[in-house]
Amino acid sequence: MHRPLQGDPKEVTLIKKASGWYAHISCELPDIPKVEPTDAIAVDVGTTHYLTTSEGEKEDNPRWYREAEGLLHKHNQTMARRKKGSNRWYKAVHAIALHQERTANKRKDFIGKLVYKLYHHKENNVLIAEDLSVSNMVQNKYLSKSISDASWGKFFEWAGNIAERDGFHFHQVDPKNTSQTCSSCGKKSPKKLSLAIRTFNCQYCGTVLDRDHNAARNILFKAAAAFRGERWVTTLYEARNKNEAQDAGLQEATQLMLFDALNKPKSLGLGS
Ligand SMILES: [Zn+2]
Repeated sequence: MHRPLQGDPKEVTLIKKASGWYAHISCELPDIPKVEPTDAIAVDVGTTHYLTTSEGEKEDNPRWYREAEGLLHKHNQTMARRKKGSNRWYKAVHAIALHQERTANKRKDFIGKLVYKLYHHKENNVLIAEDLSVSNMVQNKYLSKSISDASWGKFFEWAGNIAERDGFHFHQVDPKNTSQTCSSCGKKSPKKLSLAIRTFNCQYCGTVLDRDHNAARNILFKAAAAFRGERWVTTLYEARNKNEAQDAGLQEATQLMLFDALNKPKSLGLGS
C-alpha cells in the first residue's frame, strides 16, 4: 500500500493494468464541513501555458507530454511492423499499454501537485476555474490536441475532489467573454481579440494586462458576483454542500470581503 487508509474501507476493486494488478480500496470519509471562504484565486487555462492565475502567475505546460506523444508514435510504428498475433506483436502491444499507463501516472502527479499548490501552498480556500463544457470553447477556441495535452478536465475534477476532501470551495463559471472584457473597467473590447494577441489593451481605461491574467481576473469576478447573487450562476461542484452554503448565507456580501477587496469593476459587461 502506498499510503495509509483514511476512513472506513467500503469496497475493494481489483484493476489489471499493464504493469500488474492493483487493488483499489474505496473508503467512506466523514463529511468535511466547508471552511469560510476567505482567500480566492481563479485560473484561466490556456495553450501557451497550462494555466494563469488571477494573480498573474503562470504554470508551464508539462514538457514530458510532448515527449510521451513522440514515444507513443514510435511504439505504434513498431507494432505496425510486426505480424499481428505474433509474440513480438503482443510484446509491442504491452509496451504501448505500459507507456500509456506511465503517461497517465505522470499526468495525475502533475495535476495533483498543481492543485495542492493552489490550495495549500498559496493558502487559498476558494478556487475558481472556467467551465469549458458550457460553451463551445473546446471546439472553437483551442485545438483539441492541446486540450488532451493539458488535460484540463482531469484538473477540474481533481480540484473539485480536493475541495470536497479538505472542505474548500471549487467553482466553475461560464467563461464567455472573459478574455474579451477589461478586468479593470469592465468594458468589452469592441474588436474581438484573436488568440494570437497575448496582451489585453483596454482602449477605455488604458489598462494593459497579459491576456490570460486579465481573463483569470474576470473569472474570479464572475464567481464573486455569483456568490453575491448578482448575475451569475456557477456550477457548484460541491453539490453536497449546496444547501449548506445557502444556509450559511454565502450570498451575503459580508462573507465575501475577499472578493470586494479586489477592486471589482462596477459593470462587468460579461453577460451577453
Ligand atoms: Zn478598461
